[in-house]
Amino acid sequence: MNDNILTDLLYKYINDPDDFTNNLNLALHYDGIEQTASAVSYYLRSSERTDEDILKYQCLLRAGILFGKQGCRNFTVKGLFQHALTIQPTRPEGYFLLSRFYEKEENYHDAYLIASIGEKVSEQNSEPLILNVEYPGFYGILFEKAVASWWVGLCHESRSLLEDLYENYDLDGIHMQAVKNNLQRLSETSKGLHLVYLPKKYRDFDWGVAAENEWFHKRVAEEVFIDNVYQKFFKVEEGDIVFDVGASVGPFTHLIKDQKPGKIYCFEPHSQLYQTLTRNVSDENVVCVNQAIGPVTGEFECAGLFNKDLLGSSERENRQTIPVIKFNDFVKQNNITQIDFLKTDCEGGEYDIFNDENMDWISENVSKIAGEWHLSSPELKIKFRKFRDTYLREFPNFEIYSVDYVDMKWAIWDDWFIDKYQEVNLYIDNREKSRDKWRVTKWPTLEFTTSIPEKGCVVDCAFCPQRTLEKSYTGQRMMTLDNFKSVVDKLPKEIRVTFAGFTEPWLNKNCTDMLLYADEKGHPISVFTTGIGMKVEDVYRLKDVPYAGNPNGGFVLHLPDQERIAKHPVTSNYIKVLEAFREVCGEIQNFYTMSMGPVLDDVKHIFPQASVPEFWSRAGNLMGEAMLKPELYNLKDQFKSIYHGESPKTCGCLEDLYHNIVLPNGDVSLCCMDYGLKHILGNIYEQSYEEVIPKTKTCFNLCRFCENGVNP
Ligand code: SF4
Ligand code: SF4
Repeated sequence: MNDNILTDLLYKYINDPDDFTNNLNLALHYDGIEQTASAVSYYLRSSERTDEDILKYQCLLRAGILFGKQGCRNFTVKGLFQHALTIQPTRPEGYFLLSRFYEKEENYHDAYLIASIGEKVSEQNSEPLILNVEYPGFYGILFEKAVASWWVGLCHESRSLLEDLYENYDLDGIHMQAVKNNLQRLSETSKGLHLVYLPKKYRDFDWGVAAENEWFHKRVAEEVFIDNVYQKFFKVEEGDIVFDVGASVGPFTHLIKDQKPGKIYCFEPHSQLYQTLTRNVSDENVVCVNQAIGPVTGEFECAGLFNKDLLGSSERENRQTIPVIKFNDFVKQNNITQIDFLKTDCEGGEYDIFNDENMDWISENVSKIAGEWHLSSPELKIKFRKFRDTYLREFPNFEIYSVDYVDMKWAIWDDWFIDKYQEVNLYIDNREKSRDKWRVTKWPTLEFTTSIPEKGCVVDCAFCPQRTLEKSYTGQRMMTLDNFKSVVDKLPKEIRVTFAGFTEPWLNKNCTDMLLYADEKGHPISVFTTGIGMKVEDVYRLKDVPYAGNPNGGFVLHLPDQERIAKHPVTSNYIKVLEAFREVCGEIQNFYTMSMGPVLDDVKHIFPQASVPEFWSRAGNLMGEAMLKPELYNLKDQFKSIYHGESPKTCGCLEDLYHNIVLPNGDVSLCCMDYGLKHILGNIYEQSYEEVIPKTKTCFNLCRFCENGVNP
């Protein structure tokens, strides 16, 4: 029966393939029998063959949904939903689907943005669509906004949206259950409880002189008793040794006493606050210290809330000379060997704890850290930057929130973050000291040299130290597909897999299969290729992989140049490969072309232009190479070189030291500069990835000759 229908539909289609109805009927038929690839293709054809925007709109949405079900074309899915929205910007379905897409990607900021726009601009009671686009009704947009707002830290908004959905909308079963679950989840955090619900013991807390400073009193009461801000990610546990630095009158210690910590050390230098503190928290397991943690042991001028009429604790009048003790002096004098929970709220004094001197001790002996970090003056911004670039690299399991509870971890490495923020809340979980060395960078990368022929790379670019490589490498020449897979199977999926290395990757005939395997395993992928060694069919197999962007990412096609600095064998097959690239390059994510000079006349009709990079000495390797290659000797004025001197240098690349190169025999070389294979880090066929990669900031001789070398 189905066959008859399909035959009939195909017959009509063949007679008039540009007819919208013929395409849509086939799309619906394939959709109905779950042949999604065919259905998508006919939905897209339908959308291109109708003048009616409303039909275009729903065909694009339905195609996006089906692509999404295939699970590996997220870039396309997003593009289809966005395209649909540009056609019908006042319809709600596109906003719902795009926000849901971002939510599934855990991109909550964009999910929130799209749901918020959808809520404002779309028509709530628009006519239903003909196609099923999984739109549950306008409440779908509100639901997505509720979920996203929770994840971006807008908990009050999330709660009120969920309550509104629960009380005022006729939800389907799935959404109703999800709303109930989320409301339950929100009620399990103390965040957002109104003061009226505070237990009596918090309402009756003795604020002493702190109550005279209304701003301070209100703020600390909210932070500690309402938002429980210091225990947002982890809690004080029974038996914990706790440091309450900047204890003021003791609200945090008061809050956690029921959690049965083993011992609490409270530090408060302000004499009047200290008196109230001792009254509020007196207990045999609480030690009150009338000192601040400072840069010296003795006396020091520190910031604090010494003047109740001033809000800014770092204002001049709020600075006083007070008794201070160095963190490590206190630890030694009191025989403290571990701190389970370190809470800080000490107006910039945190940088006297988290300094170079204490780093190793803290790394080894402090488990949970939560506190305020201050950036309100140029001096504090400098200190924060230093702290970020040292501690936060060493302690990768951290969360950072603005004081109004917006997750800001995504922006922490940007300079504007330091310029903009005055104060942030930071949480470091050091319970399981992470072995993931590569987490110091957002772009950890492992590059593959898929083959090293005896005579080096066939393209033999003048500026590439192939003779140096030939002399240094004697191992297995061709990486097998199985060996490649065994390496990929060992890698955390955050590691970007790059096909570039010391030779043209497609000199290995399995390179396309390798690439598709790494993509299937969920790795970001990037490619740097001349296309030499490829077949036309490779181009079509590769085109849909979502290639990662910068740094050093994308799909880069290296074209031959007129001067023949790169000596691509320009055969008829090669021309066909380039033509195939020309045909599909608009579909390849992050596609670029480059060349070592103006593009060779023979291929100019296909790609007329390409960017030309600066040439560097490959960390000094081209100097030695010039001795072996007369052609390069004549070009020696066309590449730059640098020598940093004798002082040790490490890698200043955004990928840090985690842009290493796997050779066909499994050896892992430091980086794409190491053609002399001077720094082999280990063998990944025999060792784990973590065992092979270096510790961040390790210095290598090669870095002294590299434009990317920096001080450790
Ligand atoms: S630059 Fe690339 S294509 Fe040129 S010789 Fe080196 S590895 Fe081969
Ligand atoms: S030589 Fe050193 S600085 Fe240069 S890219 Fe390699 S690791 Fe980085």
